[in-house]
Amino acid sequence: MEENCIFCKIINKQIPSTIVAENGEAIAFKTIKPIAEHHILIAPKTHIKAFVDLKNEHKDIFMDMINLAIKVIEENGISDGSKLAMNGGKYQSVPHLHWHILAGKLEDEDNILN
Ligand code: AMP
Ligand code: ZN
Repeated sequence: MEENCIFCKIINKQIPSTIVAENGEAIAFKTIKPIAEHHILIAPKTHIKAFVDLKNEHKDIFMDMINLAIKVIEENGISDGSKLAMNGGKYQSVPHLHWHILAGKLEDEDNILN
């Protein structure tokens, strides 16, 4: 739990969110600002800042993120096509590691790798 981290607060239920799935080490919730028909975030329950901070000791956490992303893709019926994006540095606005799962109609195709 990191003070002032909005995703840590979501994980600890200190602020409201729409949680769609979770497992031991990871949580999936809806973004407040979707840019696609399906736009779900996958975050570790442990505060890790960014992709570049991942270490060997995080492999169980990262594997839970992978398994949760697969479950969300299957349960949302988007196995025919989805994008997983992880922003970093100047492209990352919330400094708590997360994947964006994007699928269906994309709002701004120019801003997403095609
Ligand atoms: P990024 O720019 O990659 O760090 O993405 C941050 C994501 O978090 C965006 O999709 C935001 O809309 C989303 N976000 C920010 N605050 C909240 C919140 N309180 N609840 C849900 N999603 C949020
Ligand atoms: Zn955090």
